[in-house]
Amino acid sequence: MGRKYVYSFGGGKAEGNEGMKNLLGGKGANLAEMAGHKSLKLPVPPGFTVTTEVCTYYYENKKSYPKGLAKEVLDAMKGVEKLMGREFGDPDNPLLVSVRSGARRSMPGMMETILNIGLTEKTILGLIKQSGGNGRFVYDAYRRLIMMYSDVVMEKAAGIEPKDDESGIRKQLEKIMGKMKQEKGCKSDTDLKVEDLKKLCALFKSKIKEVLKKDFPDEPNEQLWGGISAVFASWNGKRAVSYRRIEGIPDEWGTAVTVQTMVFGNMGNDSATGVAFTRNPGNGENKFYGEYLINAQGEDVVAGIRTPAPINEYSKSDHDKELVTLEKTMPKVYKELFDIQNRLEKHYRDMQDIEFTIEKDRLFMLQCRVGKRNGPAAVRMAMDMLKEKLIKKEEAMMRVSPGQLEELLHPIIDPKAEAAQKPIVKGLPAGPGGATGQVVFSAKDAVEWAKQGKSVILVREETNPEDVEGMRAARAILTARGGMTSHAALVARGWGKCCIVGCGALHVDYAGRKFSAGDKTIKEGDWVTLNGTKGNVYVGQLAMMDASEENKILMDFLKVCDSIKRLGIRTNADTPTDAKKARQFGAEGIGLFRTEHMFYGKGSDEPLFMLREMIVSKTEAERKKALDKLFPYVKKDIKGAIEAMDGFPVVIRLLDPPLHEFVPRDPAKLEQLAKELNISLDELSSRAAALHESNPMMGHRGVRLGVTYPEVSAMQIRAIFEAAAELLQEGKNPYPEIMVPVVCDVKELKDQLAIAQQIYQEVLTKYGIKKIKHMFGTMIEIPRAALVAGKIAEVAQFFSYGTNDLTQMGFGFSRDDIGGFLPDYIKKGILPADPFQTIDQEGIGELIKIGIERGRKARKDLEVGICGEHGGEPRSIEFCHNVGMDYVSCSPFRVPIARLAAAQAVIKEGKRKKPA
Ligand code: ADP
Ligand code: MG
Ligand code: MG
Repeated sequence: MGRKYVYSFGGGKAEGNEGMKNLLGGKGANLAEMAGHKSLKLPVPPGFTVTTEVCTYYYENKKSYPKGLAKEVLDAMKGVEKLMGREFGDPDNPLLVSVRSGARRSMPGMMETILNIGLTEKTILGLIKQSGGNGRFVYDAYRRLIMMYSDVVMEKAAGIEPKDDESGIRKQLEKIMGKMKQEKGCKSDTDLKVEDLKKLCALFKSKIKEVLKKDFPDEPNEQLWGGISAVFASWNGKRAVSYRRIEGIPDEWGTAVTVQTMVFGNMGNDSATGVAFTRNPGNGENKFYGEYLINAQGEDVVAGIRTPAPINEYSKSDHDKELVTLEKTMPKVYKELFDIQNRLEKHYRDMQDIEFTIEKDRLFMLQCRVGKRNGPAAVRMAMDMLKEKLIKKEEAMMRVSPGQLEELLHPIIDPKAEAAQKPIVKGLPAGPGGATGQVVFSAKDAVEWAKQGKSVILVREETNPEDVEGMRAARAILTARGGMTSHAALVARGWGKCCIVGCGALHVDYAGRKFSAGDKTIKEGDWVTLNGTKGNVYVGQLAMMDASEENKILMDFLKVCDSIKRLGIRTNADTPTDAKKARQFGAEGIGLFRTEHMFYGKGSDEPLFMLREMIVSKTEAERKKALDKLFPYVKKDIKGAIEAMDGFPVVIRLLDPPLHEFVPRDPAKLEQLAKELNISLDELSSRAAALHESNPMMGHRGVRLGVTYPEVSAMQIRAIFEAAAELLQEGKNPYPEIMVPVVCDVKELKDQLAIAQQIYQEVLTKYGIKKIKHMFGTMIEIPRAALVAGKIAEVAQFFSYGTNDLTQMGFGFSRDDIGGFLPDYIKKGILPADPFQTIDQEGIGELIKIGIERGRKARKDLEVGICGEHGGEPRSIEFCHNVGMDYVSCSPFRVPIARLAAAQAVIKEGKRKKPA
């Protein structure tokens, strides 16, 4: 018994269901669910789905089909014919079908769909009869079939590459149609009369013969199989492939093909087609939202050829407010649609994106899927659905991806700067947030300019799936046409990109590389700023700012995260300002405070000068003198950070970088230093030269400095304890954790602990206090340290994994030189990902696990955290949770993302233990 390749649906039944997405694709599985599930049984035109396994077979077997497929298709078609009382290819009463693509995960517009298959010179008369003599409609359907079929099957699937955009067959046919409209004085496609359309079909056919050297197939079965093959071929089309790369969809998945009875939204003014969302995907509001077109077929809405009308009052916007809503023109159908969308949302317990068609006042459902949404909408919907008790809190937390959360932390235009400006043009707010950049007019330019490090805004009349890479590269997208469900809006929403569409007043002049809006003209390379939340476009480069603090829904959402997560979330912060920011974002302490920070950047002149004195000192006495001068600066800095985190732990790392990093190179600075030290320039140069190392990253740094110069560690440790003592006396609640870096053996740590213990006693005496709450521990960043962690934990009270260095030394990859080879490693699949971005769980992860295991064996209550860059990366955070760390630490802006990722790690763990 062979495999089953075809699954039917229709007439209140279905062989498939929503759970079969891998086999039937998202579209096929959801059509089956809508048609057959006992609590839905929605009006879905009958059809059948050819599985993704056939696609795989097709590519593995030189584009041929498995035995038995043809028979299964024939049988399924017979089933549909029976339900419909029509026959495919019957000249008297023909059945027409669409051939639709559908992968496991939706790839909007990236693959092909062909409508009106089965329409031939022979069946035309039958269809006219069926439609009650509507010849106009039939020839409109026929010309659409010819256009789609010649483009998708005869050109694209046949691998024919047109010279340029203009010479593709579709463009050539569109030109013929444009000319005909002009001759007849027609404004819209729908103004063409039956005789015009008839003539058009004939013109199309001869053009196809001329360009593609083949006849348009006038045989139903040839059309059907041509369509099926073309959908499979479109899985490997250029657009689909590049979309898969961006979205990380595996090539092996393949697409399914759904063959479905046609229903006609283009039968006249009692017919229509549309797209809607059960909630507003732009901001998450719980309001039915959508667009429709009277007398049109499906692709017209998404393609943006005509401006769609709002389905209800709520969906109205500035540019379409004059148009009549579906609710007004077809109140009964609207009510039915409204009811169905309600049921669908309850059934799927998530926002649905639906496609519908109305044929002569009868409503049909053509698609539903979980709707894409941007970050702000995702958070809002999750919190709303939680309140509505539609979902539980675990589910709510899984509804927002860390990437979507990131969108809420993204910049907006500084309201003050914005208030001072007038928008030059307004459009639909399709993707929120602000963006500023230089204007380009093609996807190709967007990619190139972005490569040069420029921030670009891609301006198009309309985007199409060919533009995806440019859209990706651009900071924001601005289009003149299209609605909230247009291609640009859909794709931008999926990526959380700032996007404005449908700026009716914007005129793009591709040839002149400029656009105009009112009396303003903007040329390529000019700066514009977009407010994607309002839909406003401004000239020039406006100031940006971060908006996350005032967002109440976000704060509530994160509180729910906190009620689930077990990992602590700390931050890497070197200044009180960063520490305060991180506190606002919910950080529970500092996981890494780097003392050397005070020697870089603003305000670093004085301490840096003293540090340099210390570095080039020759004798202990000289060094001590310099350290004494440096001491108050170090203490002040540390005190500020501990105070900002009052009550929470602050991990302070002792001086880490090799000293030569601080040697001055500027002659004026050298001279000043020599003078201060009272030595000659020559002497200074030779002392500086002595610090040179050939491999400084593995040289005299970290604890090694403390071993050779104990007074350097002593000064820092004293600063830490005195800062804490002073805070205690001020009634605060300090909790420093002293962290020794670059340790590879427990004896190094013992050496430093002796210094710490002595200074601790001195400080207690000096301040007359009994105790300062603190810990003494180490960074685990050298592979050897992970292996001898058992011994290290006898001295260390805590470990903090420095995964940047652990990765560098574990792989033997120099962090600063990976640019030369790592891209090839990824391209060739030698490594699945950049191990400096996400923890290499197989190797470096093993070191981490070994270290934790051995460390905790020696000291049960050993505190373990991570302070490497990975601490803010969701997959690594999940790993840290799974191996039992106590906390992760990341930059302040990643703290909210880490809170979500930590909550999701708990939920995923629960699912693993108890599969649903
Ligand atoms: P995509 O995956 O690109 O959205 P679809 O397969 O959904 O492609 O087809 C695009 C549009 O074609 C649909 O939105 C729908 O309006 C129209 N369409 C597809 N199949 C049918 C059908 N059987 N009857 C009427 N319209 C259809
Ligand atoms: Mg669709
Ligand atoms: Mg390090």
